[in-house]
Amino acid sequence: MEKREILERYFGYGEFRPGQEALIDGVLAGRDVFGIMPTGGGKSICYQVPALMLPGITLVVSPLISLMRDQVLALKAAGVPAAYINSTLSGTQMQAVYRNLLAGKYKIVYIAPERLDYGGFGTVVSQLHISFVAVDEAHCISQWGQDFRPSYLRIVDFIDTLPNRPVVGAFTATATKQVREDVERILKLREPVRMVTGFDRPNLSFEVIHPERKDPELLRILAHRRSKSGIIYCATRKKVESVCEMLRQSGYEATRYHAGLDEEERASNQEDFIHDRKKVMVATNAFGMGIDKSNVSFVIHYNMPKSIEAYYQEAGRAGRDGADAECILLYNSSDVTTAKFLINNSSENEELDPEEREIIRQQDLERLAIMVDYCKTKACLRGCILDYFGQKHPEACGNCGNCKGEFESVDITREAQMILSCVKRIHDKLGYHVGIAVIVRVLHGSKEKKLLQLGLDELSTYGLMKTTGRAEIRAMADHLEGLGYLLTESEHQTLRLTPKAPQVLYRGQTVQMLVQKEQEAHVRPAAANKLSADEVDLYDLLRELRAELAKEANIPAYVVFSNATLQDMARKKPRTMMDFRRVSGVGELKAAWYGKVFLERIKEYLDSQ
Ligand code: ADP
Ligand code: ZN
Repeated sequence: MEKREILERYFGYGEFRPGQEALIDGVLAGRDVFGIMPTGGGKSICYQVPALMLPGITLVVSPLISLMRDQVLALKAAGVPAAYINSTLSGTQMQAVYRNLLAGKYKIVYIAPERLDYGGFGTVVSQLHISFVAVDEAHCISQWGQDFRPSYLRIVDFIDTLPNRPVVGAFTATATKQVREDVERILKLREPVRMVTGFDRPNLSFEVIHPERKDPELLRILAHRRSKSGIIYCATRKKVESVCEMLRQSGYEATRYHAGLDEEERASNQEDFIHDRKKVMVATNAFGMGIDKSNVSFVIHYNMPKSIEAYYQEAGRAGRDGADAECILLYNSSDVTTAKFLINNSSENEELDPEEREIIRQQDLERLAIMVDYCKTKACLRGCILDYFGQKHPEACGNCGNCKGEFESVDITREAQMILSCVKRIHDKLGYHVGIAVIVRVLHGSKEKKLLQLGLDELSTYGLMKTTGRAEIRAMADHLEGLGYLLTESEHQTLRLTPKAPQVLYRGQTVQMLVQKEQEAHVRPAAANKLSADEVDLYDLLRELRAELAKEANIPAYVVFSNATLQDMARKKPRTMMDFRRVSGVGELKAAWYGKVFLERIKEYLDSQ
């Protein structure tokens, strides 16, 4: 099979992303390769596609033990025979993997570096045909990077012991020159095909907010993003604890991660987040390397990080699947004090002598100054980041807080009364609370069967906001929740009035909301792939379905389909299996596996419109 066919059949993508094809061609031609792409750039495809085309086995060396299981699950879901070898396998499981390996049952095997020359694997390796060794997170081999793993140094010795030297590929998102040179030199790459792709991530929007008080601001931001999954980075463990506690008390399903927790708790919290059992992860920068949960919709920095590099790496964990995602930084001047304190009292690099440490300290302070500039600039934020990486860019990106420009305050008291009273009437009629989707549909006057069966079209608020877009109604309801007039009950995701609601309903309290002013014409539209209001609606339904399926099978939601795939599905609204296969990210096996249920759900939706 040809490489494009593989991409289509197994992964469901119609085209390669920039850089992928050249690296794949390199491997297939027997050349070493070195791919440097931002997080979410699509490095995995660069070794997974050739793995399916080469004879023998591809070994993927990765430091991310806790994620291997999910990575392998995702491959199997796509029909790729794969396995992993690391310390989490029991003796019996390990034996089974070795047996299958020898029987030639796998094309891709993920392995932790410390297992390469360890016991069992060391004994079977001489009987295997290893065509390709892909080193993921290759920067871990460099002592200059922040993620140095001594076990990475063993990779070279391992390759040297193989009777035939396989093709070697290195992949990383770290771009600094020193690290790059280290990777090539220490891994002994032989004239590799090098590919450095652009660092822009167009699907990420950037924003810096200067709140007077961060806690209420954070709650306001999250209220608009209830159903989404995201990460909140804090500068210190203490802050992680207090923010996580605050969120829990406000009804959010939040979990936490920092180096002060024991390993078991860290692993289980991470697992909860990846499997969407907890929507929000509050963490220090100890969390996240290689987290390939692809449906992270926002990354909020409660504190300013110490450098643009660190910021971009952390913020870049949003939207890895290419779907729109948000990166928001909450800045105030005390962050600078904290960052300086952390730099001046760093206990890292203890093996360095005082002089070297002083050089590093000065470098860190310079990087911090640039980070502060980012927080204060009136220019394009994306441009500011790309400048840092030395990449050319247009003056305005159209998708950051500074490019999107001005907001104005609008009075929405009347609309607020309609929404609140609708919530009340529905509860009066049914005797129980419903979710936001139903409330929006009633206000908008949907003819959906379910609504009519419940008799909700008889309510006086039915169709009251017919001329307002559904997305707008939803945004206003979110805003009311942010202001504390509505509350989502976390277990069933149903919406109810709070004791504050009567102030707006009966006592003349007015409600203001910030709305974006019209954009200037010369600025490129935020994202060409934005969904329309109807599509958002269908997208929500598809996400619900995905969550059900993932839960049933006990796999992370993104293993079923990524956000980007569900969005494309909401846009294309396939009616037939053939249309379904045209959705980006729907490969052959997944279509066979999930096609029927998704097509049914889409049909149900379309018929009710
Ligand atoms: P990285 O390892 O570089 O951070 P991944 O390999 O995890 O990135 O890929 C990020 C996301 O992009 C995944 O959801 C992947 O399926 C998707 N992706 C990769 N290649 C393509 C492509 N050619 N077309 C569309 N989506 C792709
Ligand atoms: Zn911009």
